Amino acid sequence: MEEHLRKSDTLSVIGQLAAGIAHEIRNPMTALKGFIQLLEDTIKEDHSMYFGVIKNELNRIDSIINEFLVLAKPQAMKYLEKDIVQLMKETIELLKPQAVLHNVQFQLTLETEIPYIYCEPNQLKKVFINIIKNAIEVMSNGGFIRIAIRKVDGDQVLVSIQDEGEGIDPEKLRRLGEPFFTTKEKGTGLGLMVSYKIISEHQGQIDVESEQGKGTVFYIKLPIRRV
Ligand code: ADP
Ligand code: MG
Repeated sequence: MEEHLRKSDTLSVIGQLAAGIAHEIRNPMTALKGFIQLLEDTIKEDHSMYFGVIKNELNRIDSIINEFLVLAKPQAMKYLEKDIVQLMKETIELLKPQAVLHNVQFQLTLETEIPYIYCEPNQLKKVFINIIKNAIEVMSNGGFIRIAIRKVDGDQVLVSIQDEGEGIDPEKLRRLGEPFFTTKEKGTGLGLMVSYKIISEHQGQIDVESEQGKGTVFYIKLPIRRV
């Protein structure tokens, strides 16, 4: 099963909306958090269960807004020639603690002489993190995440991230990258959407292959030079 992903039209509209809304929501959120903390400190009876729920939900709103802000491009973008092998190694180090908790090990296969990529390194790292995190999260029984970086078609680099998770059925495969599409209790359903947007801004492409019960491979193809 294979799905080709390019949803940039919808993405640009959502990006503009996100900019306005996310900024407007942030200020009242800060006030809410502050006053809820004050309330908890002031009230004599123990309502820690209620306060726990309120704080959890506020944090959830926070993470949704943060992911939305990525779409709105608030950060200054700085494209440069970058060693994405190094970028991937940093990502793996960053995610090792979470991987260990899930009994997941990484295997990194590199072709010699991977050329530097013209990219926005922080954004690209975000994509690697989102996709690898998803891989870790579906591997409830542990196993290997196999990551390979190689040159293809002369002027492109292909990053593949393969997990041994539950796989994705064809109906869900079509919905990947849709805003708020999640199958997780605590998911936001924004990680992949943000990732597709970033890769499409790099003139790249994400493809997914999945076999239920066996696992999933995400392919990220990036042009080496500015196009
Ligand atoms: P979230 O992780 O918050 O649910 P994402 O956008 O990162 O949001 O992912 C959306 C959904 O895509 C997930 O909830 C999951 O159902 C599916 N998915 C993504 N990556 C994988 C994977 N490697 N294996 C199985 N399902 C996946
Ligand atoms: Mg995710």
